[in-house]
Amino acid sequence: MTNQFVDLEKNQIAKLEHESNHKLPIWYHTLYTDGIHPDARFPRERYTKLVNQLQAPQHTDKFIIKQPIKASRDELIMAHDPTYVDNFLTQKLTEKEIKRIGLTPWTPNIIPRTLLLMGGAIAALDHVMKCGGIAGNMAGGTHHAHYNFGSGYCIFNDLAVCSRLALSKYQLTRIAIIDFDVHQGDGTATILQNVDEVLTISMHCQQNFPFRKSESDFDLVLPANAGDDEVLAVVARALDITREFDPELILFQAGVDGLATDALGKLNMSRLGMSKRNEMVFELVQELSIPAVVFMGGGYSKPISHTIDAFSDLFLSAYRANNQILSRINLAT
Ligand SMILES: [Zn+2]
Repeated sequence: MTNQFVDLEKNQIAKLEHESNHKLPIWYHTLYTDGIHPDARFPRERYTKLVNQLQAPQHTDKFIIKQPIKASRDELIMAHDPTYVDNFLTQKLTEKEIKRIGLTPWTPNIIPRTLLLMGGAIAALDHVMKCGGIAGNMAGGTHHAHYNFGSGYCIFNDLAVCSRLALSKYQLTRIAIIDFDVHQGDGTATILQNVDEVLTISMHCQQNFPFRKSESDFDLVLPANAGDDEVLAVVARALDITREFDPELILFQAGVDGLATDALGKLNMSRLGMSKRNEMVFELVQELSIPAVVFMGGGYSKPISHTIDAFSDLFLSAYRANNQILSRINLAT
């Protein structure tokens, strides 16, 4: 083989390697942090810390950070009471309604923050529906927001709005919501209670908020202090249920507040166990070769670095799975 051919071959390999490296798109806006008042009892710095970690030099080939646009009123009312939506947008929610949501004291920026957060989820959905693979939003997973009220740090329900959009705009007929946050996805369950096209699975800790639980299609309940082995056995069950449903799209609420170090969650998971959990979800996404959107969910470790590391592991796993899926799609076309 002449040198010329060797060079040609090298170039082709380099080109193939380049083409097979698909960055994971993640939506993010500085208002995810700055739209929350600094005095709020919420670790708002988790978003800036995570984006910094994902933009470290060793990850420049892995993630593409995209800026969302605001969700529209029409999109929000697909899953919410128009009066509730309008009251929020015109700052007419009562003190009681605001207190139930939390994140107080509110700054006027809570409004654009909420609309951008919802827009980030919608953009991630649109992306995977057009291009396939996996995409994520670096906030959200707002599963405690109900049809006509918010609660537990959640104003509008991004999982429910994205489900409704996937049904109407993309005419899907089978969507699976896999919610592994330590808290039950009560708002998602009630909003989508009578929607047969959307499977709602919530694995959560019985002793955690909300204390009055809703009814998901499948509630997989863990006792306080459950560790990796116990949790991962239930994860496997949740994924068997999902496989049986044969979804065309997976919406993954990937809260990491099941870590032992979490200040709110009562489970006892290690960083490794949490990472294994995510790998299991992405293995199923790869097996089914369907689009998937990652919603961040809760994470309140003390110190917050444990939460950031767990979310960083999450997006790294998502990147690897996405790269494999898109490489396969490219080979097939
Ligand atoms: Zn949570």
